[in-house]
Amino acid sequence: MKRRHFIKNTSLTGVGLAVGNSLLACKEETSNNNNKAIVDLKNLPLVIATWHVLEATEKAMAILRAGGNALDAVEQGCRIEEANEKGQSVGKGGLPDRDGNVTLDACIMDKHGNCGAVVYLKDITHAVSVARKVMEDTPHVMLAGEGAKQFAISNGFEPEDLLTETSKEAWEKWKVEAKYKPIINIENHDTIGMLAIDKNGDISGACTTSGLAYKMGGRVGDSPIIGSGLFIDNEIGGCVATGLGEEVVKTVGSFLVVELMRQGKSPQEACEEAISRIVNKPNSDYKNFQVGYIAVNKKGETGSYAIHQWFSMTKFQDGVNEQILSDYFNKA
Ligand code: ASP
Repeated sequence: MKRRHFIKNTSLTGVGLAVGNSLLACKEETSNNNNKAIVDLKNLPLVIATWHVLEATEKAMAILRAGGNALDAVEQGCRIEEANEKGQSVGKGGLPDRDGNVTLDACIMDKHGNCGAVVYLKDITHAVSVARKVMEDTPHVMLAGEGAKQFAISNGFEPEDLLTETSKEAWEKWKVEAKYKPIINIENHDTIGMLAIDKNGDISGACTTSGLAYKMGGRVGDSPIIGSGLFIDNEIGGCVATGLGEEVVKTVGSFLVVELMRQGKSPQEACEEAISRIVNKPNSDYKNFQVGYIAVNKKGETGSYAIHQWFSMTKFQDGVNEQILSDYFNKA
């Protein structure tokens, strides 16, 4: 079932899928500059992702339960959605820009604070894996456009046409009116952001998107920007964002959430505060756009919050893989 369709039409009751698990039950302390987080390993491993992506979190959890690390888990989890042609917001089948070009943005960050990103990547489905290659095999953090594509091809990624018939038809339909400024809402965005904690208590995250549908050619959002679309601090926690990237970039959203957790806020409180920074700006136009955050802290506690209704996260923890509808600001 399409993610958006599901989110709009399905009651969340009974979405959880119990699969059973055998988790370690021990505790470990980790220190950081300002506080001490108790890592409760019995809550681990865990994975959360933006939106309704049960297959992606299942893939990530399979890696974690086999003793794999959080970095492999988030990369492989995101690849599930990138390869899913029915998802029109990520990887193959993503909605194009206003000129009909599908351009992908992605980033990844590991427990050491290493990170890699690609922006305006064309013709390569697995942007998240290219981002990982940038992180691991280059001295750089970000590659863009043709350089990113050539780097991918030289590392064995196969170029392919990412514009599917369905997405082409949607674009043709959009062109009839071709509104210059797309209004972002649940119909035209769906970045996949994923955060995982492995059995050792180490955190990694990844984020991948085709960006705002029918964006201007060359436009890049928050999703590949470390600190905006994604941030990980292995001593504190991690955060990923979805929604109107410009608003996330202006508030350095994911970094903000992690810093708020460092100051003692729970993941839920931190996500709420980061949303309040956006909606409480003077003259904020928040009624016309969506932003959502999900976050996890070192203790394995999670949170999510959005401006508008129908944002959700998928969470796989304690043997249950389920979609959780997010609380939201605009209840008027
Ligand atoms: N954050 C993405 C962007 O602005 C859009 C999305 O979340 O789908 O490019």
